[in-house]
Amino acid sequence: MSETRTVNQEAGVNWTTTVWMIIFHTAAIIALFMFSWKALFITLFLWWVSGSLGIGMGFHRLLTHRGYKTPKAVEYFLTLCGTLALEGGAINWVVTHRIHHAHTEVPGLDPHTPREGRWWSHMGWILRGTAQQHEDAVLWRYAPDLMRDRFHFWLNRLYFIPLVALGIILFAWGGWGLMMWGTFLRVTIGLHATWLVNSATHLWGSRRFESSDDSTNNLWVALITFGEGWHNNHHAHPRAARHGVAWYEIDINWWGIRALQLLGLAKDIKLIDTSRRAAPAETTQLRKAA
Ligand SMILES: [Zn+2]
Ligand SMILES: [Zn+2]
Repeated sequence: MSETRTVNQEAGVNWTTTVWMIIFHTAAIIALFMFSWKALFITLFLWWVSGSLGIGMGFHRLLTHRGYKTPKAVEYFLTLCGTLALEGGAINWVVTHRIHHAHTEVPGLDPHTPREGRWWSHMGWILRGTAQQHEDAVLWRYAPDLMRDRFHFWLNRLYFIPLVALGIILFAWGGWGLMMWGTFLRVTIGLHATWLVNSATHLWGSRRFESSDDSTNNLWVALITFGEGWHNNHHAHPRAARHGVAWYEIDINWWGIRALQLLGLAKDIKLIDTSRRAAPAETTQLRKAA
């Protein structure tokens, strides 16, 4: 796999983000020495709130791909949960991800393809280049639906406030240990889990669908991202709200959407049409060779 440098990577170090990343990673390591069972369980719960309700069900499957519909109150709640993951404002996240789907693996256009380097696809693109910062014209072009919505417009700019509020609440509730675990350690692990979807599931795993990109299905990435690791299924059918197709493809984000449906809070759910499933790449290559 060639690893070429493009204009995306020449924009220099994003110092504000880099300093914050150093602070979060250092604090995450310090948190390991402040263990308590209470901190562990609350952190696991908050990881699910931010990672599954927020990023997987909210930012990704609802806001980016509109894989299902919810009442506005539910949409706003899921978006608030997503801000707790510190992955930027929802609109910037959505635009970055819609660009990723529009130009997957194209150097200089895909924001984080491993074809430009494995480190770049994981974290490099956050620290250097334009990362998730987009000009207003780009935001309007890729996410006019969200830009027109006052709640999304303002929360996109003030995305860090819910996390700061959570940190204060955790500190008041359980002191330094709980705050360090529930914010710094959780956010740092959550970031790497999300970044592995951009790096690992464009590098390692199996491929059910013969998509034109390098996306893969990967169990261990799926387990730490609540189901986002079935990334080849997702690239082949981006709008589908359910990424785990087979029974063994554990997809907790789908279970959450299904729960919303049972509560009458999710409808018009898009699913993968398995009758249109393409033959696995290996099989096709064998057929071509025959
Ligand atoms: Zn992808
Ligand atoms: Zn997607």
